[in-house]
Amino acid sequence: MTLPAPAPHEHPTLAEASAVMRKAYEQGWISTRDGNISVAMSDRRGFLVSASGVVKHSLVPTQFVFVPNGETGAPSADAYPPPSGELELHRRIQATVGSGPLTVLHLHPTHTVAALYAGHRLAELCANFPEVTRYTRVGADVPALPATSEELAIACEAAFRPALGPMPHIVGLDRHGVVAVGRNPWEAFEHVERLEHICRIVLSAGLPSPRMSDFSPTTRTEPA
Ligand SMILES: [Zn+2]
Repeated sequence: MTLPAPAPHEHPTLAEASAVMRKAYEQGWISTRDGNISVAMSDRRGFLVSASGVVKHSLVPTQFVFVPNGETGAPSADAYPPPSGELELHRRIQATVGSGPLTVLHLHPTHTVAALYAGHRLAELCANFPEVTRYTRVGADVPALPATSEELAIACEAAFRPALGPMPHIVGLDRHGVVAVGRNPWEAFEHVERLEHICRIVLSAGLPSPRMSDFSPTTRTEPA
């Protein structure tokens, strides 16, 4: 007797979320197993997050893990597949928004990470480009912190809860990547795409990076 195959999670946006990760891989914004994505359940019982270490260029809806609201701490050791290593980051940002449809998307877009590494502040970098500012609010950059750490999750949550002004759509993570939110997976993807496009333009202009100015003649310490 053959047992019936397990039913895939029934969620209208999981196929979209999988397609977004495949597209991000094609764009070169993640390597094979990088990045992660979560989508809130429409009844807000919890959210579904991509499993840990799965191949993103062939991600499918069955490779998502349900995380109920209110659950805290590490997943049980026998959870299979295990959720993304950035589970705490997704949990905190899903809880920050708290109502309505929500996608949380974490990627490593090349030019955005390069701009951060060069010392740019992403919100300032974008301020003169209406292509971004009309549609995408860029938040304060998160400093370099270990991937999958609770400190990183806490710092990202803080960046999505500014003391002044509305919640951003995207924040940069120094030496690492970005976290974007949207009402659906493709909306979150577009925030990443707009920011990445502007970072590519700025870096292509070949201007001295802010980090290089740290070593300008006026600030350099010359031996006496
Ligand atoms: Zn990452």
